[in-house]
Amino acid sequence: MNEIGSPIILHPLIDGVVLLSVPVSQMWRVATYVLAKRLQGRKRYPLVLMLEPLFRCNLACAGCGKIQHPADTLARHLSPDQCFRAARECGAPIISIPGGEPLLHPQIDQIVAGLIEQKKYVYLCTNALKLEESLVKFAPSKYLSFSVHMDGPEKVHDRLVCREGVYRVAIRAIRSAISAGFRVTTNTTLFDGVDPQDIRSFFDEMMELGVEGMMISPGYGYEKAPLQDHFLRRQQTKELFQRVLVNRPRRWKFNQTPLFLEYLQGRWELECTPWGNPTYNLFGWQKPCYLVDDGYCDTYQELLDSTNWDLYGHQSENLSCRDCMVHSGHEPTAVMSTFGSLNGLLTTAKMTLFPQGRVSSTEDDNQLPPRNPKNDLVQLTVLP
Ligand code: SF4
Repeated sequence: MNEIGSPIILHPLIDGVVLLSVPVSQMWRVATYVLAKRLQGRKRYPLVLMLEPLFRCNLACAGCGKIQHPADTLARHLSPDQCFRAARECGAPIISIPGGEPLLHPQIDQIVAGLIEQKKYVYLCTNALKLEESLVKFAPSKYLSFSVHMDGPEKVHDRLVCREGVYRVAIRAIRSAISAGFRVTTNTTLFDGVDPQDIRSFFDEMMELGVEGMMISPGYGYEKAPLQDHFLRRQQTKELFQRVLVNRPRRWKFNQTPLFLEYLQGRWELECTPWGNPTYNLFGWQKPCYLVDDGYCDTYQELLDSTNWDLYGHQSENLSCRDCMVHSGHEPTAVMSTFGSLNGLLTTAKMTLFPQGRVSSTEDDNQLPPRNPKNDLVQLTVLP
């Protein structure tokens, strides 16, 4: 599974007209949860639990840094009870299940059912190779979405997942899941060398398929991943995402905050809040985030208390964080900012109505920005 496995908190509230592509109850749950934490004076709290029930996968993608464990580790998985305990202990309203490939877990249906019983909004991240045959194990629910890994159009996706034909299997599975009544989203990781126009056409195709929304993120530069030459540096990330997102049509729906999309284009500054998307896996609670492995804790509280958070994030100048702009570290900041104050909410609504990247209604490549645009940066932080 790619590193974007982190979901999806909400879809923009307003898009010309009121338009929701996640259940109102999900958005309401997140908004009231954030407000409650603020009223309690909590500075650090979880929004999305990254629950990795196994590291085993049926693909070996070029950009993946998750599957390079010894064979005995790859053979193991978390039990349903371990998953339920982690979800209860952490308390995050949303749970993302990446991996590995979660559909390889023999009890994944029990895990999902138990999490739904806890009224968690679950995003099951999958490469979709086993999705179609697995649909019978699940029931459509507002609490469950399949988040399908799609890294671009057929040629690009199959190259990045290092196997021909995967794209077509995924498209077929998405169609089947949607027609069976399931919520389906896509998650797309971008790497250096992709053609922005290819990605734009791909987004059109995904929306035509009827997915609820799309998630995008730059790839994280895993040391162990084979794709070392194609990880984006920070400035490259901003330039690429400007070219992908500028002038975007209203039909594209992203399951991400407008603030995060602005951040990817270098128009807003967000500092990482890794405790917002904590990771629990076979080894425990991973320090400090989904991407970096600096040790493990037995409890989420211990993770909060024992991690020196000043050592992480862009401002720390930690080499592991230097070029990181990924969703799992920065979307929580955007969400906390959106729902943490009236100002944040109004700013988000304004950016949704008047996205800075939409400069006209044409999609002519001439409208794309120059490679090194000067942008006004706005510092946006989570209020204590
Ligand atoms: S900035 Fe650092 S701590 Fe934050 S998500 Fe990225 S790698 Fe993890």
